Amino acid sequence: MTSIRPRVELIPIFEDNYVFCLIDQDNQEVLVVDPGEAAKTSQFLKENNLKLQGVLLTHHHNDHIGGVRALISEHPAPIYAPKKNKTQIITADSWVSDGEKIKLGPFEFEVLELPGHTLGHVAYWEPKFKWLFSGDVLFGLGCGRIFEGTYEQAYDSIQRLKNLPSETLVYCTHEYTEANLTFCKMLSNLDNSPITGDSEELEMYANQLLSRREMNLPSVPLKLSVELSVNPFLLAKSVAQFSYLRDLRNRQ
Ligand SMILES: [Zn+2]
Repeated sequence: MTSIRPRVELIPIFEDNYVFCLIDQDNQEVLVVDPGEAAKTSQFLKENNLKLQGVLLTHHHNDHIGGVRALISEHPAPIYAPKKNKTQIITADSWVSDGEKIKLGPFEFEVLELPGHTLGHVAYWEPKFKWLFSGDVLFGLGCGRIFEGTYEQAYDSIQRLKNLPSETLVYCTHEYTEANLTFCKMLSNLDNSPITGDSEELEMYANQLLSRREMNLPSVPLKLSVELSVNPFLLAKSVAQFSYLRDLRNRQ
């Protein structure tokens, strides 16, 4: 029997969140990343006859962890959460920190600690499939708000993503890409803008994005190779530039 390549399904929840289901079709098994709510996720598992093998959490915000307890009560499985969120995510079974490897079914994740949005924020990197589950660190044409960390930490976290292979697919939790496109256009119209991405690439990006969104298709996963040439937060060359952009975006 030839094995089927695992795939990621997106479940839209709330206004603009996604829950990610990593499906190992060969064994009818699934991993779930950041279940902010349980009902839709549980329904998806039942409809597709999938057995939950684990839950990966990126950080302690409720729109990422709110559904964990209810999901686990119906589909018992181990929960992985950032070690630095030990007091905030008390339901977890395993606490993960930078560089740690997690083997689950056909997947082997490496944990990347990426503070900034929150202090304990982690991403889960799967090198074989080149998938990154990055929570609220990076968004399409944008990045996460800095709630707990410093600008410097957030900037350093973004720099670490640049070291991943450019063919990486970035599964970020929010569908913010259109709002960020408006920001990028505003940025490229500023007289003294320090950062402007490749304008032709941005135009192409905008066309693809708008046609996908018109059909109600997600902009996620993001292609890291594309984000590297158009996302202003990845293009920022210093903490100062990064901070300037983040402040400007906050005021929008
Ligand atoms: Zn968050």
